[in-house]
Amino acid sequence: MTDDEIRALLHEKMLDRSLLDQLPAIASDSRPGEPTRILAEFGGPFPESCAVCAGKPTQVRYSPTFAMHERCHAIWQEAVMTRRRRL
Ligand SMILES: [Zn+2]
Repeated sequence: MTDDEIRALLHEKMLDRSLLDQLPAIASDSRPGEPTRILAEFGGPFPESCAVCAGKPTQVRYSPTFAMHERCHAIWQEAVMTRRRRL
């Protein structure tokens, strides 16, 4: 899968809300002015499927049910940042 294909999948999933359009730490945990707490585990391999492309094993995990490949995660973060800048 190319980066562009992953990006297209991401946008689709963010639009239908099956994928977060914010980083979880920002969504649930941070208040303005506080340092962002990223609640993620890196390394793996984790047995969960990738939230973006459904492949496994994955290398980044935010909770027991939310995991991504390292590459899908990087592209997702980039998409989230781009989106926040636009809002
Ligand atoms: Zn993936």
